[in-house]
Formats: sequence, structure tokens, C-alpha cells
Amino acid sequence: MPFETLPHYPTIGAMLHVDRKSAERADQKWVEAQCNRPEARFFVLINLKPILASGANRSTTEIRWFNPAERADLGLGEYDVLFLGIDGQDRPHFSIAMSENDAKQLPRGVEQFEPLVEFRSLAMQGIMAAEELSFIATARSLATWHQTHRCCGRCGAHTKPRDGGWRRKCWACDQSAFPRSDPAVIMLITDGERCLLGHEERFLENVMSVLAGFVEPGEAIEDAVRREVMEEAGIEVGKVSYLASQPWPFPHSLMIGCVGEALTTEIKLEDSELVHALWADRAEVGRMLASEHEDGLRVPANISISHMLIRSFAEGLA
Ligand SMILES: [Zn+2]
Repeated sequence: MPFETLPHYPTIGAMLHVDRKSAERADQKWVEAQCNRPEARFFVLINLKPILASGANRSTTEIRWFNPAERADLGLGEYDVLFLGIDGQDRPHFSIAMSENDAKQLPRGVEQFEPLVEFRSLAMQGIMAAEELSFIATARSLATWHQTHRCCGRCGAHTKPRDGGWRRKCWACDQSAFPRSDPAVIMLITDGERCLLGHEERFLENVMSVLAGFVEPGEAIEDAVRREVMEEAGIEVGKVSYLASQPWPFPHSLMIGCVGEALTTEIKLEDSELVHALWADRAEVGRMLASEHEDGLRVPANISISHMLIRSFAEGLA
């Protein structure tokens, strides 16, 4: 189900409305021709942080897009481009990823692009449009994959980017590698009246969230939901339904949002990553969402599918 049809879609991911041109981008000459079109747009990630521009009213932030002439002028022409797609106005969109050390070697240095902001905090601040956050999220996932796949997994030789950044090819043995998404389940577990929420050590103080975990090879989504909830909370889960998904660019997960029916309700936390877990009814979850909870409990920020699942429960939609 696309987020647009749900009332509370998260602000990161799933909003990249471009034509990815997956057949055409395999042709290097086609990609180069798109780079040279005057309406082409480029943005830059330095250490995975985007170069930004102030919005028109100064209270918002936008991606700082460069045109082909600016790309050449800034000395960005020698860096590999990642082709993100063509938008509804027929404009090709690209990103260029580099390290801070690379950026310092640019003709006019790196200071002109500061401040650079960590993507997660940029998203949390709620000052950037969801479509622009989705461009950064996609480029960030892709750039991270390139950073960690410079050598061939089969023979160890160097690999080169192909297909506008959507493949790497080994020069020695011809093996191709493709960008990966790591599937993870994230689940709203309910007993009909209440939902299961937990707190992990790594969470911000007082934040309660739905449970989540990676899907393992050979495992169906439904079974991953049942296994994770049993491992983390000792709760047996019966029927599992799919609700929505979210690409999560830290570094490149695909969060598969599900609703599961609890068959038991006694919480057991031995050997669990959770330090605390509880059942909360719709009214109590509503107070967490409104920051009016009697014990100060709250829920994750609205950048994530966890927030959407919890809010959907509070409003009786899930
Ligand atoms: Zn190889």
C-alpha cells in the first residue's frame, strides 16, 4: 500500500516520484547525454550529508541543486554520478557522493557548502519537503552501498560503477553486484484493545516503539514477525497482515510494516533487547502521541513507519 493512501505517512522515503528509466540507464552514453542536458539537476553528498540551500521564507531548507554548468564550474565533473530518475517536468536528477577529504580538494574548497547537516537530524527538524528528503534518502542508500562494494565479492579485484550507479562490475571476472535493500519487519502487535510497545537501551529516553527486526534468509515475512515478537517479548502471534512499507536509509533497509494478532499477553523479557515493554490501549497511546502521558512516555518521531503504525492504532485505523 503506498503511503499517500494512508493518513500518516512518514516523511522519509517512499515519496520519490521519478521515472527511474531502468532500461535506458544501462546505456552509459544515454546517462552521459542526460548529464549534459541543460535542465539536468545535481546535488552533492559530502560524507553522506547533503549540500543545502535556505528555503524562500528562511524557515525551511531545500536541496541545493546545481545545473550542468555549475557542476563543471565547481570541479564536480570528474566524480561518478548516481542517476536518480526523471521527474514530471522531464528533468534528469543526479547525485554525486564524495568524502570530506575529496571536497577539500575542490577548486573552491568545502567551506562554501557549510553547514552540512546529518540526514537524520535534518529529517527530524521537519523543515524539508518529503519529496526532497526522499531524493536524499535514495542517494544516501546508494552511496553507502558503493562505498562498501569497491571490491568484487567473488575474486577481490576492483569494481567499477555501471548503469548510472545501479550496478558495479568487476573488471577481472565480470561479476556484477546490484544495490541491496535489507528487509526488516516492523510490527504493530495487538490483542484487539491494546498494542505492544517496547523500549530499547539505544532509544531516546522514555520513547516506546513497536518491535522490529531483520528478516533472515529462508524466512517468510509472517514468520519473521512471529519469531521476533516471541524472542523479544515472549508473546505468541497468530495472524499477520501487511500494512505498508518504508525504505529506511540507515544504511539501506526496507521496513515492512505489519499488523499481528497476539495469541498470548504475558510479556517475558529474558534475553531480550528490550529493557521495558507494556500493553497500551488507544487512549494511553493517544496521550503518548500528544506528549501528555502521565509517566512522560512518548513515541518515535513522525519520520518513521513506527510512528505511523502507532498513530494508526490510536485512531482505530489498524
Ligand atoms: Zn571479480
